[in-house]
Amino acid sequence: MKPASVGASVLLASALACGHTPTRTASPSPPDARRGSDSSRRGPAGPVVGEYAVRYDGQGELRVEATLDRSGRVLTVERGVEDFVDDLEIKADGAEWTRGERDGRSFLAAPCELGPCSLRYRVRLRAAARAIGDLDVASEEGEVIEAPPSSWLLAPERRDGGGRVRFRVETTESTRFCTGVLRSREIEGAWDIALGDLWTSPYSVFGPLRVRALEESGGAVELAIAPGALAVSDDDLADWTRDSARAVAGYFGRFPLAEALVLVVPSRGRWIGEGKTLSGGGGAIFIRVGEHAPKKKLHEDWVLVHEMTHLAFPTVAREHDWAEEGLATYVEPFARARAGILSIEDAWLGLADGLPNGLPTAGDRGLDRTPTWGRTYWGGALFYLLADVEIRKRTQGRFGLEHALRAILTAGGDNAHRWALDDAFDVGDRATGVPVLRELHRAMGTSPHPVDLDALWRELGVVRASGAIRFDDAAPLAAIRRAITTPDPRGR
Ligand SMILES: [Zn+2]
Repeated sequence: MKPASVGASVLLASALACGHTPTRTASPSPPDARRGSDSSRRGPAGPVVGEYAVRYDGQGELRVEATLDRSGRVLTVERGVEDFVDDLEIKADGAEWTRGERDGRSFLAAPCELGPCSLRYRVRLRAAARAIGDLDVASEEGEVIEAPPSSWLLAPERRDGGGRVRFRVETTESTRFCTGVLRSREIEGAWDIALGDLWTSPYSVFGPLRVRALEESGGAVELAIAPGALAVSDDDLADWTRDSARAVAGYFGRFPLAEALVLVVPSRGRWIGEGKTLSGGGGAIFIRVGEHAPKKKLHEDWVLVHEMTHLAFPTVAREHDWAEEGLATYVEPFARARAGILSIEDAWLGLADGLPNGLPTAGDRGLDRTPTWGRTYWGGALFYLLADVEIRKRTQGRFGLEHALRAILTAGGDNAHRWALDDAFDVGDRATGVPVLRELHRAMGTSPHPVDLDALWRELGVVRASGAIRFDDAAPLAAIRRAITTPDPRGR
């Protein structure tokens, strides 16, 4: 089925956020390319406390030169990468270069304690990726290396004082650098990230990537494809990415982030595999596509829409993982159903099959205190289904969950930002005029709150019949059930 069209979709010919700077020398100070018109699309404000020029040699090694503004005497990279940082030298302004000493996991940088200092060092990134093999730190993915900036920017250990760091990356002629970090507001060809976001900085990748820039419903989505055999073409991957973005944009009123990276890595088998999102200070989705996966599998896939849904809600504290995972689990089938990618019956069938996993069992202490798989994904999804139904009931159908979520997004609560959960729910509740999210969180957060799912399905008119779903339009909440799968073009 053809997806419903939401907003214009334009395929741009050139890459926007991916870096490819085949010059041989380190960047001099770039021109001050201030761009006022789209500054809201770009990285954080605040003082720049570190600037890094990074050169990738095309094989697996980075050479980094940096200037830091009074950063304290201890510098670190992501755990485990310190073993692959070589030849660190440090100097204060006007002084000689001295060797930077390692101290356990960290590096001592006495010259940086009192004032501005300069650093230079090498990172054997491919060796680190091969040894560590963790997407959140460093991972060798065939010819490309995935490693967030926290793994190769040697940065002050203390990161709670505010400020941001800026980096530029040069590659060889035949390689690219792509990242989910938001581009600098002020400088063309640079990326800025708040120090406080660095530890959860988005996936970033070096290597011979094929890159497409897709513009979809207010979002610039960079599609980076790693080398490797696939049964589908790059055009198929671009269509799939755009359709997924359009489904999410339809639900939320626009694509959640102004910029995001989707990194596709070929893998074994015939499935769409592991999908992960990493979003501090930007947004990046890593997704594996099986070498034998046919085009049909892309269209049946739920993983990419699930991951893109994550981009639409703020990063919240660990104990509220259910609020992020439950949201992606609940919204994904309905976003696809609204876009015409999934049948309405199948959207409800998935929920009817899955939600029993989310019910509290013996010893449950509420969603905030029971971090099991079932309670996190399906308990969270149950929370949002109850919220959606209740908001529609209390507002006589004027608003649903999506209007609360759109308001959170409009207030800046996207996945690049860290919020308190109740602040997000407050914004959502104010938009619908009914305090459903806060009330439900109080009821379900710290106590089991059992739900009679059979009664809920009867009220909604969702009827299981021999492995399929049929609908009972005489059920008391049938109108609410229909509204949940009906696109609402009103905006927020
Ligand atoms: Zn998820």
